[in-house]
Amino acid sequence: MTGTPGSDGHIAVVGASLAGLRAAEQLRAAGHTGPITVFGAEPYAPYNRPPLSKEVLAGPGDHDAERLHAQVAFRMRSSVADVTFRLGAAVAAADLARGRLTLADGREAGFDGLVAATGLRPRRLPLPGPQAGRHALRTLDDCLALRAALGPGTRVVVAGAGFVGCEVAATALRLGCQVTVVEPAAEPMLAVLGPELGRAVRRHHEAAGVRFVTGRLTAAVHGRDRVRAVELDDGTTLEADVLIEAVGSVPNTEWLAGNGLDLSDGVLCDNALRAGERLVAAGDVARFPNPLFDDRPRRVEHWSIPGDTAKRAAATLTALLAGRAPDPAPFAPVPSFWSDQLDLRLQSFGSPALAEEARLEEGDPARLGEGVLATYHREGRHVGTVAVNLPPARQRELRAAFTRPLLTLTRNP
Ligand SMILES: Cc1cc2nc3c(=O)[nH]c(=O)nc-3n(C[C@H](O)[C@H](O)[C@H](O)COP(=O)(O)OP(=O)(O)OC[C@H]3O[C@@H](n4cnc5c(N)ncnc54)[C@H](O)[C@@H]3O)c2cc1C
Repeated sequence: MTGTPGSDGHIAVVGASLAGLRAAEQLRAAGHTGPITVFGAEPYAPYNRPPLSKEVLAGPGDHDAERLHAQVAFRMRSSVADVTFRLGAAVAAADLARGRLTLADGREAGFDGLVAATGLRPRRLPLPGPQAGRHALRTLDDCLALRAALGPGTRVVVAGAGFVGCEVAATALRLGCQVTVVEPAAEPMLAVLGPELGRAVRRHHEAAGVRFVTGRLTAAVHGRDRVRAVELDDGTTLEADVLIEAVGSVPNTEWLAGNGLDLSDGVLCDNALRAGERLVAAGDVARFPNPLFDDRPRRVEHWSIPGDTAKRAAATLTALLAGRAPDPAPFAPVPSFWSDQLDLRLQSFGSPALAEEARLEEGDPARLGEGVLATYHREGRHVGTVAVNLPPARQRELRAAFTRPLLTLTRNP
């Protein structure tokens, strides 16, 4: 409990994944005593997505959704024992002025305060042609469908060499597939890693057997009843049994339309994560300014962000419902993510994607597996760090070293 008075209205949390679950926990921690209902479009209780491109996808191909869900489900803390989870209950619309939600099945529900935690869905390639054999990966059901399609000798084309595309390529290779990754940029994960580390990661994948076609777009999908080939924008044709579309994500915000909000890229919030009079947002869908970097609002798609934003959003909403002003202290979470690809663990702190310059600090990119450290800079300021295969203790040190000067910055803006 915070020691300040809590609130007691009805709070609806829309989205039953990491951000939604953490929001419910943090509302209780912030002293909210009223009812909380979490609405989730998926039929599953909140579960962890990172294993879906890694160990769960690489697993033996268990088709039992419940058993797989049990492997990745989040532990339900006692603080949310009295929270109502309405699963398989997509919210179609919200009326902020009236405090009403309309569900996809037409039922309605009221609220006094609202948390938007609806995350993202995969962007799909706008290409006609057969649908069978085309996959994207966000949910447990997506993972089950993709796992069933992969096996020794399966010819897989991955469109997009971002983090999810590279992880899936590595996992498909491990399952014995023949894997080609098609990427319009010059190197995989270029925007985050920069050219030198991006090239090194590509070479590491290539040495393991993943083929890369860079500087090319996926232009057409061929096949009568199912995917047989993928054509690139230079006319090259790649034979394929499976096309995995890993070309970015789209924020799930349509249900908030009509309320005068800025939904142009997620839910625009202030630094306290307030998006409206009684609306806050958390997780991948929230776009907020982070004073660690500048005052431009951005969304951040890393696992660390739902926890940090849920805590702040819950405190803000509890204060608003109790008639208090939100905490004026700057909200400045340090983004961090990890990615497992082949025998590599990439770990990032800060926002390397904002940098103008990447500096290789330690290690030899030709021997990534032995450990490499790069730092990223903008206008002379260190804005991000990427470590590859450095031991956990060293990673903790790097995180602390990165965070310390930033904390001073937010205390003395
Ligand atoms: C395959 C994969 C691998 C990843 N690996 C890593 C990793 O290695 N490291 C890392 O840092 N991050 C990783 N991430 C990112 C991380 O999982 C996300 O940052 C995190 O899941 C975001 O949580 P969220 O709750 O904000 O959104 P989401 O997890 O997207 O959850 C949003 C939920 O809201 C529901 N919803 C949407 N619209 C509605 C509606 N209208 N009504 C009701 N419910 C709705 C959705 O069905 C979904 O369940 C990975 C993501 C994926 C997909």
